[in-house]
Amino acid sequence: MGKSVKTNDSSSSRVHRENLFTLPKDFKNALNDCRTKAGQDSPKEVTYLWIAVSDDGLGHTGKADDGGIVLSTEDWLNVIDEAASLGANWVVLTLTTKLSQFSEIWDICRWAQDTHGMMVGVHLGVDEVTAEDTQHLLSMNLDKLRLLVRSESHEKLAFLEHQGVVLWTANPQPDGVKPNCQGPSRMIYVNAEGYLYTCGLVDGTPDYLMGSVLHDRLKHVIKSSSVRHCVEEDLHLVTSACDGCPALIANYFSTNL
Ligand code: SF4
Repeated sequence: MGKSVKTNDSSSSRVHRENLFTLPKDFKNALNDCRTKAGQDSPKEVTYLWIAVSDDGLGHTGKADDGGIVLSTEDWLNVIDEAASLGANWVVLTLTTKLSQFSEIWDICRWAQDTHGMMVGVHLGVDEVTAEDTQHLLSMNLDKLRLLVRSESHEKLAFLEHQGVVLWTANPQPDGVKPNCQGPSRMIYVNAEGYLYTCGLVDGTPDYLMGSVLHDRLKHVIKSSSVRHCVEEDLHLVTSACDGCPALIANYFSTNL
């Protein structure tokens, strides 16, 4: 599949990009501080790709009337290809609403498994799984599939385990503690609008915007010294935004990887 990531330059995206490359002095200092704390210059190897799916689906940059763009499934497959070429062997799709609303994610999950041999995590924000969803789940390579749900949902979804779907806890730590995560340095996080952020915890925080899959190559973003590859200590506390984070759950389920 050829690379066909769109290059439309919406005004909001341009603003993000201009902000991204015009770094105020205190932000540069914060970048250096962040790097020193993390003991790293930039990520050396990517292991995880984390994609957020909003209530509106995947890849909506706003209403079409306002110049918004909807990324196609092929755009997302290209993101998978590029992440895999950088070493990603895990992809997690986080859904904020019902699984049944997003049939397009199955193409992405299958592509990741079949083309790149990636482990796929489907992270359910809402623990409703229909009979059709179950069929989709069972049609996947179950050896390379993990269903990530909050701990309180395990009992409700235990019927899936009886059919061979492995359930993992999406929130292995309580809110408010320091995350026992591997940090974002080996992860690519893409939100539903295609924006790249340091990780899910700081999605929407301007200082942690890294670029956009619409405009930027992942390999440039992960090596860029102009963006943050770690989260400042004062923000670095578990919230529900860490649910499903592959850099977190890998530390709890590594024996199963
Ligand atoms: S989302 Fe949370 S758990 Fe994941 S890398 Fe960021 S701070 Fe760590």
